[in-house]
Amino acid sequence: MFAKIQIYTMKGFKLTFSILFFVTVAFTACKDDDNNDAVEDPRAQNLKALGTSAEDILSNATFKSLTVELAYTNNQKPSQEALDRFKDFIIARVNKSDGVNFIETVVPNQSGAPFTIQEIRDIETNIRTQYTVGDDIAMYVFFSNGSSENDTDTTVTLGTAYQNTSVVVYQNTLVNITADDPEVLPLLESTTLHHEFGHILGLVNIQDDDIHIDGEHEDLDHPKHCVIEDCLMFFEASNITRSHVTRMVNMLRQRANVPEFDIELCLADLQAKGSR
Ligand SMILES: [Zn+2]
Ligand SMILES: [Zn+2]
Repeated sequence: MFAKIQIYTMKGFKLTFSILFFVTVAFTACKDDDNNDAVEDPRAQNLKALGTSAEDILSNATFKSLTVELAYTNNQKPSQEALDRFKDFIIARVNKSDGVNFIETVVPNQSGAPFTIQEIRDIETNIRTQYTVGDDIAMYVFFSNGSSENDTDTTVTLGTAYQNTSVVVYQNTLVNITADDPEVLPLLESTTLHHEFGHILGLVNIQDDDIHIDGEHEDLDHPKHCVIEDCLMFFEASNITRSHVTRMVNMLRQRANVPEFDIELCLADLQAKGSR
């Protein structure tokens, strides 16, 4: 008797579900036919220009939580040390009453390396699973198994922040650079990751909204970077010379820690946008 009732309930549920599904499909089809702009791209909030979501990520005003997706390929996972340090680094900066969620997504090796930035965008479209919804803002980092197409015999790109919530770290390039010095790899991973996150947060003067007077903060010889030599945002991570990278690796080995935002300039700018 009991079993019979259960089966009946299941059937009833299935029936209701089918009707609902049919109605939804019919309604959606109807909407598409009648109104071309009715369906908003669910990724729309994550397809904006670099630096435009700095305040949304830092402050608690519009978005109460942050989701950070860390996507890497199965044979090139970034070091646990760098992932843990990145989590601490974010939590120390953002003001989120509902917290920060970290999601790790393991994807197959992506073919076609070296990658143009358009290919990096296409990879994001295929593998990214977390998008901004409601009052949760999402950001995404891809640890690429291939290098940047812009690399030459003399220059290299370690990472790029290319959209309001999107970063690529050329993990394979970092591994190659530190091949003779693997203990420096976690420091180079962190420096690249934190630096690109700084660009996501609008540093330096990405959206022409720096609170400091002209020339005081942004290094006019190296636009969008900081004038303070030991600041995290002083370094360039795109198209840098290989000899510069060697100096950077030596510096990281010596100091054995990751550069931070300077207090008076970079941190002051972040605090103006709601950072802790
Ligand atoms: Zn940079
Ligand atoms: Zn700075």
